[in-house]
Amino acid sequence: MADSLRAKLPPVYAPLLGDFFDRQEVVEDRATCESCAMCDHGQGVGVAMEFFHPDAKCCTYYPQLPNYLVGALLSDPAPELEEGRRRLRETLRTRIGATPQWLAPPRKYTVLLAASRGAFGRSKVMRCPYFDAERGGTCTIWKYRENVCNTYFCKYTKGKPGWDFWQSLKDYLGQVEIMLSNYALKRVDPELNEPQLSRLRLTVEDLEDRGPNDADYASYWGKWVGREEEYYVATFEAVKRLSRAEFVRNVDESEEGRKRLAEVRARWEALDRRTVPPILLKNPKLKTYPVDDGIVVTSYNPFDSFKMERELFDVLGLLRAGDTIERNLARLREEHEVDLDPELIAYLYTHGVLVAPGEDPSKPTPAVVSAAPTPAGISAAPGEGGRAPSKVKRGFGKKRR
Ligand code: SF4
Ligand code: SF4
Repeated sequence: MADSLRAKLPPVYAPLLGDFFDRQEVVEDRATCESCAMCDHGQGVGVAMEFFHPDAKCCTYYPQLPNYLVGALLSDPAPELEEGRRRLRETLRTRIGATPQWLAPPRKYTVLLAASRGAFGRSKVMRCPYFDAERGGTCTIWKYRENVCNTYFCKYTKGKPGWDFWQSLKDYLGQVEIMLSNYALKRVDPELNEPQLSRLRLTVEDLEDRGPNDADYASYWGKWVGREEEYYVATFEAVKRLSRAEFVRNVDESEEGRKRLAEVRARWEALDRRTVPPILLKNPKLKTYPVDDGIVVTSYNPFDSFKMERELFDVLGLLRAGDTIERNLARLREEHEVDLDPELIAYLYTHGVLVAPGEDPSKPTPAVVSAAPTPAGISAAPGEGGRAPSKVKRGFGKKRR
């Protein structure tokens, strides 16, 4: 039986989140993390593509941990978290990124990330410090991962509605982290102030992979210098003492929190809705890559390309903005003797190949979309930027003769 959404998030949130989080979790079984779907397993994908590095996978990311998740990890005696605690203490020892509200990425990392292209999933230089390549590429702090790590998948079973849902949950959890970490900071020591540090400017210490100088560090931490672990644990205890009513007041009823929670609800409810807009066109921003037996298309997700027949791709270009999809399909039948299955149309819409006029597929779809099941014979493929093939292609319709 599937778990609830609540059960899949760090346990510190369990008593705080509302009833909505008792709804069923969203299972992303196409993101086969133990045998990473983006890595080369000799699956023979047909066109040249750069797989993810098995010693990095999608963990070429440096998490920004809110203070109370740092404290939660340090407080948790579970043996399976021992390696994570060791790594986190090692990070704290360097003082890099440690402030009263966060344990953040080094600024040098952030600058490199902003400047790098094609490194995601591929460069071990950008690998997360909590990623354990020696033990099959696992996360050593999984139970206490932050909003991005909680919500990232390379592929979405329900297509773009799935992507929209996880984006909205990331945004909500991000807001929860900001508000709870600030709340905890003030509860533990109202004298402390989070330093306002420019993320993209590097000091000499940043360049040389050293922590801040003593004066700067003392200005961040005050009386807690040398007692940072104790401080982080205290922030976790403060969040544990927070009542559901206080959480609602501080987070869910704040202007931003209310908006983001409403978005998560709407996205969850849209996951299985089977409504498509009355007018659909081929996505003008599709990235395409011709291959011998078809065309590889990439829409909203650079890591979820799929191959379609060239003929189908061309037929989709005949859809007219001035007509409803029903009228367009009738015209294609009459003038071009092509039947397009409505199930296929729904699939192409939910995967961003078809869009409503003016819709930007890189942005969340208005929360009224369908989540069509994959029509028989079509499947997505590992890939990036239109450079990967699908595993399967098939006829898309019936020609009337
Ligand atoms: S989510 Fe990450 S680890 Fe999981 S299959 Fe995708 S790339 Fe691999
Ligand atoms: S915290 Fe865990 S899931 Fe997140 S990037 Fe690091 S190893 Fe990956």
